[in-house]
Amino acid sequence: MRVLIVGAGGREHALAWKCAASERVTEVIVAPGNAGTAAEARVRNADVAAEDIAALVALARAERIDLTLIGPEAPLVAGIVDAFAAAGLKCFGPRAAAARLEGSKAFSKEFLQRHRIPTARHATFTRATFDARYVMDHRTPIVVKASGLAAGKGVVIAASASEALAAVDAMFGGEFGAAGHEVVIEEFLAGEEVSFIVMADGQHALALATSQDHKRRDDADRGPNTGGMGAYSPAPLVTPILHARIMREVIEPALQGLAAQGTPYTGFLYAGLMIAPDGAPQVLEFNCRLGDPEAQPLLMRLQSDLTQLCAAALAGRLHEVEVKWDPRTALGVVMAAAGYPGRVRSGDAIDGLDTAARLPGKVFHGGTRLSGEPGRVVTSGGRVLCAVGMGDSVRAAPSSSTRPDFTLFSSSFLL
Ligand code: AMP
Repeated sequence: MRVLIVGAGGREHALAWKCAASERVTEVIVAPGNAGTAAEARVRNADVAAEDIAALVALARAERIDLTLIGPEAPLVAGIVDAFAAAGLKCFGPRAAAARLEGSKAFSKEFLQRHRIPTARHATFTRATFDARYVMDHRTPIVVKASGLAAGKGVVIAASASEALAAVDAMFGGEFGAAGHEVVIEEFLAGEEVSFIVMADGQHALALATSQDHKRRDDADRGPNTGGMGAYSPAPLVTPILHARIMREVIEPALQGLAAQGTPYTGFLYAGLMIAPDGAPQVLEFNCRLGDPEAQPLLMRLQSDLTQLCAAALAGRLHEVEVKWDPRTALGVVMAAAGYPGRVRSGDAIDGLDTAARLPGKVFHGGTRLSGEPGRVVTSGGRVLCAVGMGDSVRAAPSSSTRPDFTLFSSSFLL
């Protein structure tokens, strides 16, 4: 079997590495991939951008691909699964109509409300319908969100009404382009955040192991919020009781609701949840794909064949499969380029990868590329590497992947 992975980050490196480990798989192609995917056995990069849907369809045809997995949200929201289906190609992910759960927060909030799935109270506005009294009439902090895709940057937690109004102004003013033409304003929820990710086949959901990402950049939970400085799995906060409650109150009604409106959901579905102090789960957002940091520890723990799980999902048979996990804890720690999450320099040389490869655990690449000189890897993005270790507890896991002789490792993520 031949597999295509679309994307270029750590999530896609982990997906490619996991698929290449399957006995059924002869070759994995990653478009466009990074220096890490280029170095994996039975994995090859193809120089096609993750957003170039027509070129990806052509690549899948030319390479006789049997199964495609999509990493990032942008091609899913733009309809890559529809394009692959129209070309008779198997692609695991939601069609554009279902990917709107992530692509439009306005759609997602209206959907949640209609299906009585717990979420923060909200209102959606365009510039023409905006009424500042809505902000004045509600308690602060209050949350202002650009409705469309804004690369994780379109959410402002405003401490005051004036801060909220400034955020609304900036969004309508084009700070996030078309993503800010509609704005969702919602109540601030207190509690603990968890990521809950399932595979869905249109009707059934198969929950993946629990996981939690770590958003703040610096030690001791300080510094700016990022796309994720790492993640661990399992997440002890999700007890079996809470797990059952999330399935019953969030995942099942969401899948049933989408199927009932004629847009069944197939693919990874990621619910970002706030668990209220009384234990009630509330949806902060849906993502239509795996989380980038979460995917890396999750796929390290996955013992089942991912290609078989995807094939079962595409056949609508997820309720018949069982998934096996390594019982140990996996912890992934990101090494980011200086300046992240702002502008970062690229092209810096990375040393120590050979030494790191001989250690237990696994170093997944994010923003890396081959420099052109043989064997030389350089940085090309904000989140450069993610070292994933396994251990009997979250405290034990980092030591297996973060020895001092791995010169690259930044020890900035300790729990
Ligand atoms: P979102 O992209 O909607 O998940 O928002 C990004 C982050 O903003 C979340 O991971 C939360 O940390 C925070 N957030 C979003 N909505 C709320 C809310 N209603 N109450 C509190 N925090 C929120």
